Amino acid sequence: AKSIGKNNYHYYTKSMRDAALKRMTLISDLRHAIENEELFIVYQPIVEMHNGYCTKAEALIRWQHPVHGVIGPLEFIPVAEETGLIIDISNWVFSQVCRDVRHWRKTLCPTLQLSINTSPIHYTDPDRCITQWLDTLLETRTPPQAILLEITENLLMDANQSVSTKLFQFRQAGVDIALDDFGTGYSSISYLKKYPTDILKIDKSFVHSMSEVSNDKVLCEAIIVMAKKLGIKVVAEGIETEEQRNILQKMGCEYGQGYLFAKPLKYQDFDALLKRQKQD
Ligand code: C2E
Ligand code: CA
Ligand code: CA
Ligand code: CA
Repeated sequence: AKSIGKNNYHYYTKSMRDAALKRMTLISDLRHAIENEELFIVYQPIVEMHNGYCTKAEALIRWQHPVHGVIGPLEFIPVAEETGLIIDISNWVFSQVCRDVRHWRKTLCPTLQLSINTSPIHYTDPDRCITQWLDTLLETRTPPQAILLEITENLLMDANQSVSTKLFQFRQAGVDIALDDFGTGYSSISYLKKYPTDILKIDKSFVHSMSEVSNDKVLCEAIIVMAKKLGIKVVAEGIETEEQRNILQKMGCEYGQGYLFAKPLKYQDFDALLKRQKQD
């Protein structure tokens, strides 16, 4: 082991203090982000593999910070979850997405479905989000089938009865449920039995090792076959190359998402994509 000199020690505590300060600043900035309208949503197309047609898109949040520029969700969603700010943020995301999907369904793509990422807290905190979201759907007259809720395994890992009750409530209302990052957890398959699932999203780590002769490829194909038999549609995430797309399409994967098709797009750019697509 290295001996820790006095200077190192000082350096260490200083960097810890800096980190704590940075975190506190982030939290207080984030509190204001909603009211200051600094949050925005980008939409990443999810396309049908056989024709490239976009009928779904994933809503991904961004933060236009007045000083630091655009900040991605990995940098502030965890903090938002720890502090409870995620509740307000998610309610905001939910109503924005409802508004956008209604508009696009009316004008450009009648079957469009937009997906929303959810956090564990949405299901464990009694009545905080679920009821509000169901109310928002009703109040805004958003067709439930226009919304897809993405849940991750770590949400379900320590899930209790209330989580599945709430998922069933959503599903009963007509909202689709997608299992996100499928295959990265410990017991993905058992969740398929326990929870209602309409769509399964194969994690990008599988997709990225697609061109090698690998177990991942075999697992991927097995997942697709299994999903088909269960009547669940499959989205492959993180497709970046033609090769990945071709392999997945041959395996029978219905939908694809990734930089090969499109990056996450700002409202206007996604709007333009739907317009082009309508004219074709
Ligand atoms: P995720 O749900 O797995 O979202 C997919 C991430 O992969 C996005 O990163 C997307 O930009 C990125 N991606 C898309 N195509 C490709 C590709 O071809 N290659 C590679 N390498 N990456 C690709 P992003 O936008 O930074 O989001 C990161 C995570 O933050 C999301 O992972 C999701 O868990 C979370 N997140 C995003 N928006 C929200 C939100 O509104 N609420 C909550 N609770 N979480 C969110
Ligand atoms: Ca997702
Ligand atoms: Ca359904
Ligand atoms: Ca994912």
